Amino acid sequence: MCNNLDMNLAERDIQSIWHPYTQMKTAALPIPIVRGEGALLFDENGNEYIDAISSWWVNVHGHSHPYIAEKVYEQFKTLEHVIFAGFTHPKAVELAERLLKKLPENQNRVFFSDNGSTAVEVALKMALQYWHNKGEKRINILAIDGAYHGDTFGAMAVSGRSAFTAAFDDLLFDVIHLPFPEKNGETTIQHLKSQISSRFNQDKSQISCFIFEPLVQGAAGMRMYSPEVLQEMISICRENNIITIADEVMTGFGRTGKFFATDYISENPDIFCLSKGLTGGTMAFGITSCSSKIYDTFFSDDKMKTFFHGHSFTANPVACAASCASLDLFEEQETWENISRIEQSHCEFAEKIRRNDLVEDICQQGTILAIELKTGEETSYFNSIRDNAYDFFIKRGVLLRPLGNVIYVLPPYCITEVQLAKVYEVIEEFLGS
Ligand SMILES: *Cc1c(COP(=O)(O)O)cnc(C)c1O
Repeated sequence: MCNNLDMNLAERDIQSIWHPYTQMKTAALPIPIVRGEGALLFDENGNEYIDAISSWWVNVHGHSHPYIAEKVYEQFKTLEHVIFAGFTHPKAVELAERLLKKLPENQNRVFFSDNGSTAVEVALKMALQYWHNKGEKRINILAIDGAYHGDTFGAMAVSGRSAFTAAFDDLLFDVIHLPFPEKNGETTIQHLKSQISSRFNQDKSQISCFIFEPLVQGAAGMRMYSPEVLQEMISICRENNIITIADEVMTGFGRTGKFFATDYISENPDIFCLSKGLTGGTMAFGITSCSSKIYDTFFSDDKMKTFFHGHSFTANPVACAASCASLDLFEEQETWENISRIEQSHCEFAEKIRRNDLVEDICQQGTILAIELKTGEETSYFNSIRDNAYDFFIKRGVLLRPLGNVIYVLPPYCITEVQLAKVYEVIEEFLGS
Protein backbone atom coordinates (compact mmCIF):
# COMPACT_ATOMS: atom_id res chain seq x y z
CA MET A 1 0.00 0.00 0.00
CA CYS A 2 2.80 2.39 0.96
CA ASN A 3 4.21 1.82 -2.46
CA ASN A 4 1.06 3.05 -4.10
CA LEU A 5 1.44 6.45 -2.53
CA ASP A 6 4.75 6.90 -4.35
CA MET A 7 3.04 6.40 -7.68
CA ASN A 8 1.17 9.15 -9.43
CA LEU A 9 -2.56 8.98 -9.91
CA ALA A 10 -2.43 7.54 -13.43
CA GLU A 11 -0.09 4.74 -12.38
CA ARG A 12 -2.31 3.89 -9.42
CA ASP A 13 -5.35 4.00 -11.71
CA ILE A 14 -4.12 1.29 -14.03
CA GLN A 15 -3.32 -1.02 -11.11
CA SER A 16 -6.98 -1.24 -10.17
CA ILE A 17 -9.31 0.22 -12.79
CA TRP A 18 -10.75 -1.09 -16.04
CA HIS A 19 -11.75 1.80 -18.34
CA PRO A 20 -14.69 1.89 -20.78
CA TYR A 21 -14.09 1.29 -24.51
CA THR A 22 -10.39 0.91 -23.75
CA GLN A 23 -7.93 -1.80 -24.73
CA MET A 24 -6.01 -1.59 -21.48
CA LYS A 25 -2.91 -3.26 -22.89
CA THR A 26 -2.18 -0.64 -25.53
CA ALA A 27 -3.89 2.42 -24.09
CA ALA A 28 -1.82 5.41 -22.98
CA LEU A 29 -1.98 6.30 -19.28
CA PRO A 30 -5.23 8.09 -18.44
CA ILE A 31 -4.98 11.83 -17.84
CA PRO A 32 -5.87 12.66 -14.23
CA ILE A 33 -8.37 15.51 -14.18
CA VAL A 34 -8.71 17.27 -10.85
CA ARG A 35 -10.98 20.17 -11.71
CA GLY A 36 -13.42 21.45 -14.33
CA GLU A 37 -14.74 24.91 -15.05
CA GLY A 38 -16.84 26.03 -18.01
CA ALA A 39 -15.57 24.21 -21.10
CA LEU A 40 -12.19 23.58 -19.45
CA LEU A 41 -10.72 20.54 -17.70
CA PHE A 42 -7.56 20.86 -15.58
CA ASP A 43 -5.11 18.06 -14.91
CA GLU A 44 -3.04 17.60 -11.76
CA ASN A 45 -0.12 19.51 -13.28
CA GLY A 46 -2.28 22.50 -14.06
CA ASN A 47 -2.50 21.81 -17.82
CA GLU A 48 -5.85 22.72 -19.31
CA TYR A 49 -7.92 20.98 -21.97
CA ILE A 50 -10.88 22.38 -23.87
CA ASP A 51 -13.63 19.78 -23.60
CA ALA A 52 -14.77 20.01 -27.23
CA ILE A 53 -16.90 16.83 -27.00
CA SER A 54 -18.73 17.70 -23.77
CA SER A 55 -17.23 14.65 -22.03
CA TRP A 56 -18.97 12.05 -24.21
CA TRP A 57 -21.83 14.32 -25.26
CA VAL A 58 -23.23 14.95 -21.80
CA ASN A 59 -22.20 18.42 -20.66
CA VAL A 60 -24.33 21.38 -21.67
CA HIS A 61 -23.78 24.33 -19.30
CA GLY A 62 -20.10 23.76 -18.48
CA HIS A 63 -18.26 21.77 -15.81
CA SER A 64 -18.93 22.20 -12.10
CA HIS A 65 -21.57 24.81 -12.81
CA PRO A 66 -21.99 26.81 -9.57
CA TYR A 67 -25.78 27.07 -9.86
CA ILE A 68 -26.27 23.33 -10.42
CA ALA A 69 -23.74 22.60 -7.66
CA GLU A 70 -25.68 24.77 -5.23
CA LYS A 71 -29.02 23.12 -6.05
CA VAL A 72 -27.49 19.66 -5.77
CA TYR A 73 -25.95 20.48 -2.39
CA GLU A 74 -29.24 21.91 -1.11
CA GLN A 75 -31.08 18.77 -2.20
CA PHE A 76 -28.46 16.48 -0.69
CA LYS A 77 -28.84 18.16 2.67
CA THR A 78 -32.63 17.89 2.51
CA LEU A 79 -33.33 14.45 1.02
CA GLU A 80 -30.67 12.41 -0.75
CA HIS A 81 -32.84 9.44 -1.69
CA VAL A 82 -36.12 7.69 -1.00
CA ILE A 83 -37.73 4.54 -2.41
CA PHE A 84 -39.92 5.60 -5.34
CA ALA A 85 -42.55 2.85 -5.13
CA GLY A 86 -45.27 4.07 -2.79
CA PHE A 87 -43.44 7.37 -2.27
CA THR A 88 -42.74 10.55 -4.18
CA HIS A 89 -40.86 13.82 -3.59
CA PRO A 90 -41.06 17.46 -4.75
CA LYS A 91 -38.21 17.45 -7.27
CA ALA A 92 -39.50 14.38 -9.13
CA VAL A 93 -42.91 16.01 -9.53
CA GLU A 94 -41.42 19.36 -10.55
CA LEU A 95 -39.14 17.72 -13.13
CA ALA A 96 -41.92 15.57 -14.59
CA GLU A 97 -44.25 18.55 -14.93
CA ARG A 98 -41.60 20.77 -16.47
CA LEU A 99 -40.38 18.14 -18.95
CA LEU A 100 -43.89 17.27 -20.08
CA LYS A 101 -44.34 20.97 -20.93
CA LYS A 102 -41.23 20.85 -23.12
CA LEU A 103 -42.07 17.52 -24.79
CA PRO A 104 -44.71 17.30 -27.57
CA GLU A 105 -48.26 17.58 -26.29
CA ASN A 106 -48.98 13.86 -26.76
CA GLN A 107 -46.48 13.01 -24.00
CA ASN A 108 -48.31 12.14 -20.83
CA ARG A 109 -46.08 10.33 -18.28
CA VAL A 110 -42.43 10.08 -17.36
CA PHE A 111 -40.67 6.99 -16.02
CA PHE A 112 -37.30 7.44 -14.32
CA SER A 113 -34.19 5.27 -14.61
CA ASP A 114 -30.42 5.57 -14.42
CA ASN A 115 -28.85 6.29 -17.82
CA GLY A 116 -29.39 6.28 -21.56
CA SER A 117 -29.27 2.51 -21.93
CA THR A 118 -31.85 1.94 -19.20
CA ALA A 119 -34.06 4.66 -20.73
CA VAL A 120 -33.93 2.63 -23.96
CA GLU A 121 -34.61 -0.69 -22.16
CA VAL A 122 -37.64 0.88 -20.51
CA ALA A 123 -38.88 2.23 -23.85
CA LEU A 124 -38.56 -1.18 -25.55
CA LYS A 125 -40.28 -2.95 -22.66
CA MET A 126 -43.11 -0.38 -22.67
CA ALA A 127 -43.60 -0.84 -26.42
CA LEU A 128 -43.53 -4.64 -26.27
CA GLN A 129 -45.77 -4.88 -23.22
CA TYR A 130 -48.17 -2.41 -24.84
CA TRP A 131 -48.96 -5.12 -27.42
CA HIS A 132 -48.88 -7.88 -24.81
CA ASN A 133 -51.41 -5.99 -22.68
CA LYS A 134 -53.62 -5.54 -25.71
CA GLY A 135 -53.47 -9.27 -26.32
CA GLU A 136 -51.77 -8.93 -29.72
CA LYS A 137 -48.61 -10.77 -30.63
CA ARG A 138 -46.33 -8.15 -32.08
CA ILE A 139 -42.68 -8.68 -31.37
CA ASN A 140 -40.77 -7.45 -34.42
CA ILE A 141 -38.72 -4.31 -33.91
CA LEU A 142 -37.48 -1.82 -36.49
CA ALA A 143 -34.29 0.22 -36.13
CA ILE A 144 -31.79 1.93 -38.44
CA ASP A 145 -28.48 0.51 -39.62
CA GLY A 146 -25.53 1.82 -37.64
CA ALA A 147 -27.73 2.98 -34.76
CA TYR A 148 -26.36 3.23 -31.26
CA HIS A 149 -28.84 2.90 -28.39
CA GLY A 150 -26.58 1.79 -25.53
CA ASP A 151 -24.60 -1.13 -24.17
CA THR A 152 -27.09 -3.22 -22.18
CA PHE A 153 -28.50 -6.26 -24.01
CA GLY A 154 -31.78 -4.83 -25.26
CA ALA A 155 -30.13 -1.57 -26.25
CA MET A 156 -27.34 -3.52 -27.99
CA ALA A 157 -29.89 -5.63 -29.86
CA VAL A 158 -31.57 -2.59 -31.42
CA SER A 159 -28.18 -1.01 -32.20
CA GLY A 160 -26.34 -1.80 -35.43
CA ARG A 161 -24.21 -4.93 -35.49
CA SER A 162 -20.57 -3.91 -35.20
CA ALA A 163 -17.26 -4.60 -33.47
CA PHE A 164 -18.98 -3.41 -30.29
CA THR A 165 -21.56 -6.19 -30.44
CA ALA A 166 -19.61 -8.98 -32.21
CA ALA A 167 -19.03 -11.10 -29.09
CA PHE A 168 -22.76 -11.14 -28.36
CA ASP A 169 -24.39 -11.16 -31.80
CA ASP A 170 -25.69 -14.74 -31.44
CA LEU A 171 -27.55 -13.79 -28.28
CA LEU A 172 -29.10 -10.52 -29.43
CA PHE A 173 -32.78 -10.69 -30.36
CA ASP A 174 -33.62 -10.19 -34.02
CA VAL A 175 -34.16 -6.64 -35.16
CA ILE A 176 -35.02 -5.44 -38.64
CA HIS A 177 -32.44 -2.80 -39.55
CA LEU A 178 -33.49 -0.34 -42.24
CA PRO A 179 -30.73 1.19 -44.40
CA PHE A 180 -29.52 4.58 -43.17
CA PRO A 181 -31.49 7.38 -44.91
CA GLU A 182 -29.03 8.78 -47.45
CA LYS A 183 -29.98 11.89 -49.44
CA ASN A 184 -33.79 12.07 -49.72
CA GLY A 185 -34.19 8.79 -47.84
CA GLU A 186 -36.15 7.13 -50.64
CA THR A 187 -34.47 3.73 -50.18
CA THR A 188 -35.14 3.74 -46.46
CA ILE A 189 -38.78 4.65 -46.92
CA GLN A 190 -39.17 1.87 -49.50
CA HIS A 191 -37.60 -0.64 -47.12
CA LEU A 192 -39.83 0.54 -44.30
CA LYS A 193 -42.95 0.11 -46.44
CA SER A 194 -41.94 -3.31 -47.73
CA GLN A 195 -41.01 -4.56 -44.25
CA ILE A 196 -44.41 -3.53 -42.98
CA SER A 197 -46.35 -5.10 -45.81
CA SER A 198 -44.34 -8.34 -45.87
CA ARG A 199 -45.04 -8.89 -42.20
CA PHE A 200 -48.81 -8.59 -42.46
CA ASN A 201 -50.54 -11.54 -40.91
CA GLN A 202 -54.31 -11.75 -40.49
CA ASP A 203 -54.64 -8.10 -41.53
CA LYS A 204 -52.14 -7.00 -38.94
CA SER A 205 -48.51 -6.03 -39.23
CA GLN A 206 -46.38 -7.95 -36.76
CA ILE A 207 -44.13 -4.97 -36.13
CA SER A 208 -44.35 -3.60 -32.60
CA CYS A 209 -42.14 -0.54 -32.67
CA PHE A 210 -39.55 1.56 -34.48
CA ILE A 211 -36.64 3.06 -32.54
CA PHE A 212 -34.40 5.78 -34.01
CA GLU A 213 -31.94 8.51 -33.16
CA PRO A 214 -33.69 11.61 -34.56
CA LEU A 215 -31.66 13.55 -37.18
CA VAL A 216 -28.19 12.51 -35.94
CA GLN A 217 -26.72 9.05 -35.40
CA GLY A 218 -24.06 9.77 -32.80
CA ALA A 219 -21.79 6.75 -32.49
CA ALA A 220 -22.05 6.01 -36.24
CA GLY A 221 -19.92 9.13 -36.75
CA MET A 222 -22.45 11.95 -36.26
CA ARG A 223 -24.28 10.81 -39.42
CA MET A 224 -27.12 13.17 -40.24
CA TYR A 225 -30.40 12.89 -42.10
CA SER A 226 -33.21 15.29 -42.84
CA PRO A 227 -36.29 16.14 -40.76
CA GLU A 228 -38.44 15.42 -43.84
CA VAL A 229 -37.36 11.76 -43.91
CA LEU A 230 -37.89 11.42 -40.17
CA GLN A 231 -41.33 12.99 -40.50
CA GLU A 232 -42.28 10.55 -43.25
CA MET A 233 -40.98 7.48 -41.38
CA ILE A 234 -42.94 8.38 -38.24
CA SER A 235 -46.02 9.14 -40.28
CA ILE A 236 -45.88 5.73 -42.02
CA CYS A 237 -45.46 4.03 -38.65
CA ARG A 238 -48.41 5.93 -37.20
CA GLU A 239 -50.61 4.89 -40.13
CA ASN A 240 -49.64 1.27 -39.46
CA ASN A 241 -50.07 1.49 -35.72
CA ILE A 242 -46.35 0.93 -35.09
CA ILE A 243 -45.08 2.58 -31.90
CA THR A 244 -42.33 5.13 -32.51
CA ILE A 245 -39.50 5.60 -30.02
CA ALA A 246 -37.33 8.72 -30.30
CA ASP A 247 -33.98 8.05 -28.65
CA GLU A 248 -33.09 11.67 -27.83
CA VAL A 249 -30.38 10.63 -25.37
CA MET A 250 -27.72 12.51 -27.35
CA THR A 251 -29.86 14.93 -29.38
CA GLY A 252 -31.97 16.31 -26.53
CA PHE A 253 -31.46 19.49 -24.52
CA GLY A 254 -30.51 21.93 -27.26
CA ARG A 255 -27.83 19.83 -28.92
CA THR A 256 -29.33 20.05 -32.41
CA GLY A 257 -30.30 23.73 -32.09
CA LYS A 258 -33.83 23.19 -30.77
CA PHE A 259 -34.76 21.77 -27.37
CA PHE A 260 -35.39 18.32 -28.89
CA ALA A 261 -34.38 17.12 -32.36
CA THR A 262 -38.00 16.08 -32.93
CA ASP A 263 -38.98 19.76 -32.50
CA TYR A 264 -37.92 20.04 -36.18
CA ILE A 265 -40.92 17.91 -37.21
CA SER A 266 -44.64 18.00 -36.58
CA GLU A 267 -45.24 14.24 -36.16
CA ASN A 268 -45.07 13.24 -32.50
CA PRO A 269 -43.31 10.01 -31.52
CA ASP A 270 -45.07 7.85 -28.90
CA ILE A 271 -42.08 7.40 -26.61
CA PHE A 272 -38.98 9.50 -25.79
CA CYS A 273 -35.68 8.42 -24.21
CA LEU A 274 -33.68 11.12 -22.41
CA SER A 275 -30.38 11.09 -20.54
CA LYS A 276 -26.90 12.65 -21.12
CA GLY A 277 -27.83 16.40 -21.05
CA LEU A 278 -30.81 15.77 -18.75
CA THR A 279 -28.90 16.68 -15.57
CA GLY A 280 -26.88 19.24 -17.49
CA GLY A 281 -24.49 16.33 -17.92
CA THR A 282 -23.58 16.36 -14.24
CA MET A 283 -24.61 12.84 -13.22
CA ALA A 284 -26.17 9.59 -14.37
CA PHE A 285 -29.93 9.74 -14.91
CA GLY A 286 -32.48 8.61 -17.46
CA ILE A 287 -36.08 9.29 -18.37
CA THR A 288 -38.52 7.52 -20.66
CA SER A 289 -41.70 9.44 -21.42
CA CYS A 290 -44.77 8.08 -23.16
CA SER A 291 -48.13 9.14 -24.55
CA SER A 292 -51.44 8.34 -22.93
CA LYS A 293 -52.04 5.82 -25.72
CA ILE A 294 -49.19 3.73 -24.25
CA TYR A 295 -49.90 4.50 -20.62
CA ASP A 296 -53.59 3.59 -20.86
CA THR A 297 -52.88 -0.04 -21.78
CA PHE A 298 -51.06 -0.46 -18.44
CA PHE A 299 -53.69 1.40 -16.41
CA SER A 300 -55.94 -1.46 -15.34
CA ASP A 301 -57.49 -3.49 -12.54
CA ASP A 302 -55.59 -6.43 -13.94
CA LYS A 303 -52.33 -6.77 -11.98
CA MET A 304 -50.75 -8.59 -14.92
CA LYS A 305 -50.86 -5.35 -16.90
CA THR A 306 -48.51 -3.62 -14.43
CA PHE A 307 -45.18 -2.35 -15.74
CA PHE A 308 -42.87 -4.56 -13.66
CA HIS A 309 -39.74 -2.50 -13.96
CA GLY A 310 -37.76 -0.34 -11.55
CA HIS A 311 -34.27 0.48 -10.37
CA SER A 312 -32.98 1.01 -6.84
CA PHE A 313 -32.28 4.66 -7.54
CA THR A 314 -35.44 5.44 -9.54
CA ALA A 315 -36.04 9.23 -9.52
CA ASN A 316 -33.09 9.94 -7.26
CA PRO A 317 -33.86 13.35 -5.70
CA VAL A 318 -30.32 14.69 -6.24
CA ALA A 319 -30.41 13.78 -9.95
CA CYS A 320 -33.90 15.35 -10.17
CA ALA A 321 -32.59 18.52 -8.50
CA ALA A 322 -29.66 18.71 -10.95
CA SER A 323 -32.10 18.27 -13.86
CA CYS A 324 -34.42 21.01 -12.57
CA ALA A 325 -31.44 23.32 -12.11
CA SER A 326 -30.36 22.57 -15.69
CA LEU A 327 -33.89 23.40 -16.91
CA ASP A 328 -33.64 26.72 -15.02
CA LEU A 329 -30.50 27.50 -17.03
CA PHE A 330 -32.38 26.68 -20.23
CA GLU A 331 -34.84 29.44 -19.26
CA GLU A 332 -31.97 31.94 -19.54
CA GLN A 333 -31.71 33.69 -22.88
CA GLU A 334 -27.93 33.43 -22.69
CA THR A 335 -28.06 29.63 -23.10
CA TRP A 336 -29.95 29.95 -26.39
CA GLU A 337 -27.73 32.82 -27.56
CA ASN A 338 -24.74 30.56 -26.93
CA ILE A 339 -26.34 27.74 -28.93
CA SER A 340 -26.97 30.10 -31.89
CA ARG A 341 -23.46 31.51 -31.62
CA ILE A 342 -21.96 27.99 -31.82
CA GLU A 343 -24.21 27.14 -34.79
CA GLN A 344 -23.04 30.28 -36.57
CA SER A 345 -19.35 29.65 -35.84
CA HIS A 346 -19.61 26.01 -36.94
CA CYS A 347 -21.21 27.15 -40.15
CA GLU A 348 -18.43 29.65 -40.92
CA PHE A 349 -15.71 27.15 -40.10
CA ALA A 350 -17.36 24.49 -42.26
CA GLU A 351 -17.33 26.86 -45.23
CA LYS A 352 -13.70 27.70 -44.60
CA ILE A 353 -12.41 24.11 -44.68
CA ARG A 354 -14.95 22.52 -47.01
CA ARG A 355 -12.53 22.54 -49.92
CA ASN A 356 -9.57 21.22 -47.97
CA ASP A 357 -8.01 18.26 -49.81
CA LEU A 358 -8.38 15.96 -46.84
CA VAL A 359 -12.04 16.71 -46.26
CA GLU A 360 -14.50 14.25 -47.76
CA ASP A 361 -17.64 15.80 -46.30
CA ILE A 362 -18.82 18.22 -43.61
CA CYS A 363 -22.19 18.11 -41.88
CA GLN A 364 -23.70 20.29 -39.22
CA GLN A 365 -26.80 20.14 -37.09
CA GLY A 366 -27.08 22.76 -34.38
CA THR A 367 -24.05 22.63 -32.09
CA ILE A 368 -22.73 19.44 -33.72
CA LEU A 369 -20.12 19.75 -36.47
CA ALA A 370 -18.84 16.57 -38.15
CA ILE A 371 -15.87 16.54 -40.51
CA GLU A 372 -15.38 13.35 -42.46
CA LEU A 373 -11.80 12.88 -43.62
CA LYS A 374 -10.75 11.15 -46.82
CA THR A 375 -9.06 7.89 -46.06
CA GLY A 376 -7.48 5.08 -48.02
CA GLU A 377 -8.73 2.67 -45.41
CA GLU A 378 -12.28 1.61 -44.94
CA THR A 379 -14.28 3.86 -42.62
CA SER A 380 -14.40 2.24 -39.23
CA TYR A 381 -14.13 2.91 -35.54
CA PHE A 382 -10.61 1.46 -35.62
CA ASN A 383 -9.40 3.72 -38.39
CA SER A 384 -5.80 4.74 -37.62
CA ILE A 385 -6.54 8.43 -38.24
CA ARG A 386 -8.43 8.30 -35.00
CA ASP A 387 -5.47 7.52 -32.73
CA ASN A 388 -3.14 9.99 -34.43
CA ALA A 389 -5.70 12.76 -34.36
CA TYR A 390 -6.66 12.15 -30.73
CA ASP A 391 -3.04 12.45 -29.59
CA PHE A 392 -2.42 15.43 -31.84
CA PHE A 393 -5.33 17.36 -30.29
CA ILE A 394 -4.62 16.38 -26.68
CA LYS A 395 -1.02 17.58 -27.04
CA ARG A 396 -2.46 20.94 -28.04
CA GLY A 397 -4.85 21.11 -25.11
CA VAL A 398 -8.05 20.14 -26.93
CA LEU A 399 -10.15 17.09 -26.17
CA LEU A 400 -11.52 15.78 -29.46
CA ARG A 401 -12.21 12.08 -29.81
CA PRO A 402 -12.75 11.26 -33.49
CA LEU A 403 -15.08 8.43 -34.42
CA GLY A 404 -12.98 6.56 -36.99
CA ASN A 405 -12.23 9.11 -39.71
CA VAL A 406 -14.83 11.58 -38.47
CA ILE A 407 -13.63 14.50 -36.37
CA TYR A 408 -16.57 16.11 -34.63
CA VAL A 409 -17.03 19.12 -32.38
CA LEU A 410 -19.84 18.96 -29.83
CA PRO A 411 -19.02 21.52 -27.14
CA PRO A 412 -20.66 22.68 -23.91
CA TYR A 413 -22.81 25.68 -24.84
CA CYS A 414 -20.79 27.99 -22.58
CA ILE A 415 -17.62 27.47 -24.64
CA THR A 416 -16.18 30.94 -25.32
CA GLU A 417 -15.48 32.29 -28.78
CA VAL A 418 -11.76 32.21 -28.07
CA GLN A 419 -11.91 28.57 -26.95
CA LEU A 420 -13.98 27.59 -29.97
CA ALA A 421 -11.52 29.39 -32.25
CA LYS A 422 -8.71 27.35 -30.71
CA VAL A 423 -10.62 24.11 -31.39
CA TYR A 424 -11.01 25.09 -35.06
CA GLU A 425 -7.37 26.17 -35.19
CA VAL A 426 -6.04 22.78 -34.05
CA ILE A 427 -8.34 21.01 -36.50
CA GLU A 428 -6.98 23.17 -39.34
CA GLU A 429 -3.46 22.52 -38.14
CA PHE A 430 -4.19 18.78 -38.19
CA LEU A 431 -5.59 19.00 -41.71
CA GLY A 432 -2.44 20.81 -42.80
CA SER A 433 -0.04 18.37 -41.16
C1 LIG B 1 -25.05 7.46 -25.25
C2 LIG B 1 -26.30 6.98 -25.87
C3 LIG B 1 -27.07 5.96 -25.28
C4 LIG B 1 -26.61 5.23 -24.05
O1 LIG B 1 -26.57 6.05 -22.94
P1 LIG B 1 -25.68 5.61 -21.68
O2 LIG B 1 -26.00 6.62 -20.64
O3 LIG B 1 -24.26 5.67 -22.15
O4 LIG B 1 -26.10 4.24 -21.30
C5 LIG B 1 -28.27 5.62 -25.88
N1 LIG B 1 -28.69 6.21 -27.00
C6 LIG B 1 -27.98 7.20 -27.60
C7 LIG B 1 -28.52 7.86 -28.83
C8 LIG B 1 -26.76 7.60 -27.07
O5 LIG B 1 -26.04 8.55 -27.69
